[in-house]
Amino acid sequence: MKKLIRGIVEFREQKLPDYSQRFRDLAYQQVPDALFITCADSRVVPNLMVSTEPGDLFTVRNVGNLMPPADAQGHSEGDLSEASAIEYAVSVLKVPNIVVCGHSECGAMKAVLGGKADSLPPNLAKWLHHAHPAAERLASGDRLDPSLSEHDQLSQLNVLAQLEHLMTYQVVRDQVEAGTLTLSGWWFDIGSGDVLAYRDEHRAFVLINRDNAERWHGPLSGPEQATFMLKPQDSLWRRQDHG
Ligand SMILES: [Zn+2]
Repeated sequence: MKKLIRGIVEFREQKLPDYSQRFRDLAYQQVPDALFITCADSRVVPNLMVSTEPGDLFTVRNVGNLMPPADAQGHSEGDLSEASAIEYAVSVLKVPNIVVCGHSECGAMKAVLGGKADSLPPNLAKWLHHAHPAAERLASGDRLDPSLSEHDQLSQLNVLAQLEHLMTYQVVRDQVEAGTLTLSGWWFDIGSGDVLAYRDEHRAFVLINRDNAERWHGPLSGPEQATFMLKPQDSLWRRQDHG
């Protein structure tokens, strides 16, 4: 605990002066660039990876970066917290992006893959059920990058599964259809520090470096362009499904 308290004191003494105006500007409002959904894993550090400032990311973190789907009535099949974060980010904050970011060596994915869920504490076992669609795809032979370990392959498929779950929410579908919301799937390789983006044209996660980023988005200093967009009728699995 002392390490954390020391961190607060050091932030206050050394960094806060540089952020003071930013925090004053943010005191009564936020206009984040994205709803960022990622794993609770301590090694995943969204603001560091994306070089973002306070106010830039509206973040949801949970075990396995899972997003329970909505049922036909629009209610979450899981916990209300994830669903209400979607509704607040999209309907109230009107974020233009939702990113689902998985990562390498994810303990949640290892537990799902190892079939250990039944031996886990009951809430955790029930929660990991939301990763099962990805596990089923892996079991059926679906592969995005065969060079990866099985649990990392599952982790990548899980990002796509959670993007599909997002599309079960009417508020998300409406904004995507209107062209005002973009969904992106990212994957963080902890060992290398690389962040990869899912590219539908390659059906693979591809390194986000300067060359690739400018190929996809144009000059990085230029205006925003839409990136990967999942249309309501699309399925990320369609290439496999349709041979
Ligand atoms: Zn994880």
